[in-house]
Amino acid sequence: MNTQDYIQREDKFGAHNYHPLPVVLDRGKGVFVWDVDGRRYYDFLSAYSAVNQGHCHPKIVGAMTEQASKLTLTSRAFYTSMLGEFEEYITTYFGYDKVLPMNSGAEGDETALKLCRKWAYEKKGIPENEAKIIVCEGNFHGRTITIISMSTDPDSYKGFGPFTPGFVTIPYNDTNALAKALEDPNVAGFLVEPIQGEAGVYVPDSGFLSKAYELCKEKNVLFIADEVQTGLARTGKLLACDHEEVRPDILILGKALSGGVYPVSAVLADDEIMLCIRPGEHGSTYGGNPVAAKVAIAALEVIKEEDLSKRAEELGKKFRADLRKIDSPLIELVRGKGLLNAIVIKPTNGKGAWDVCVALKENGLLAKPTHEHIIRFAPPLVITEEQLEECADIISKTIHSFE
Ligand code: PLP
Repeated sequence: MNTQDYIQREDKFGAHNYHPLPVVLDRGKGVFVWDVDGRRYYDFLSAYSAVNQGHCHPKIVGAMTEQASKLTLTSRAFYTSMLGEFEEYITTYFGYDKVLPMNSGAEGDETALKLCRKWAYEKKGIPENEAKIIVCEGNFHGRTITIISMSTDPDSYKGFGPFTPGFVTIPYNDTNALAKALEDPNVAGFLVEPIQGEAGVYVPDSGFLSKAYELCKEKNVLFIADEVQTGLARTGKLLACDHEEVRPDILILGKALSGGVYPVSAVLADDEIMLCIRPGEHGSTYGGNPVAAKVAIAALEVIKEEDLSKRAEELGKKFRADLRKIDSPLIELVRGKGLLNAIVIKPTNGKGAWDVCVALKENGLLAKPTHEHIIRFAPPLVITEEQLEECADIISKTIHSFE
């Protein structure tokens, strides 16, 4: 089968809910992926920042295969020898009393919303069914009906109503709007991405998170951080909230929590909040299964052992400097933090971000546009300085070829 055969088969038998770049991947190792013809590419998407530790990290894959031949799934109807170990490890790692394990990022967000509402009725004293959660314009938290009910992107919500009520939308990076919205006594939580990834790597002003946290505290409102994309060393700290020394009341993790080998997400909170959910009120057949538990411990260990936060911080600075040196009318803006970066493309000669990504692919680097004119650059954090320099050259040459 050739590349076209693979693409046509997916097109024929699969739902058309994605629009992939025309490359068919077959193998991955570290920062590289290979297509079915054996061509090698730098992966600058990292599965939307799930593969922070690099493709097929031997320690994480080893943990998975070891556990997979021992015990894979029991459901939560029984205790297992792995779950408690994971729970102790991750709560110590992040400094919370308790964790609630799920699978996808969206489920993590759903869990946080349920926890917040339950806390609002049981602890804050908001009348039943009246709790509100403040969210930001441009948010992306996943694809479930409740989550798209918070979305301001018509691609996400249009045609999927009716929607879940109980959300108040404010502009991102706007603490005045937040203060105003917080005047409503029925507000229970503020859900925020420390950097808006899917929206196009929007980095808020320095001080936004700490001010937002302070405002929430004044009103006894839970500060809920969705670190599914920004978490786990991607932005140059373990959590993006760490840049402003903010400790979220509810922390949502996913993606790189497994290094890309298995769906694992988790919600962390202290007892006061977490114990509001009781047996039978929430769960998932696969959530917290032994493979997920073993894999997540390994993935978190790799982040510390390989000092990925520091690498992302240092390499990110250099990479942005290299990108800013590209003198081209096609680049409107470079922004980002750590190794979560983006360029905003000014369409030239009828060519835009999609065309640039196709040309990057031809030159051996895979990236994907987010929205019309933004290209995110998020390589695995194990990339070396020399490799990153080579990639900045590839990007520079590709951009110049459009002038
Ligand atoms: N939250 C954020 C900030 C995300 O970026 C994403 C996915 O891109 C999600 C949640 C949803 O995660 P998943 O696709 O695993 O459901």
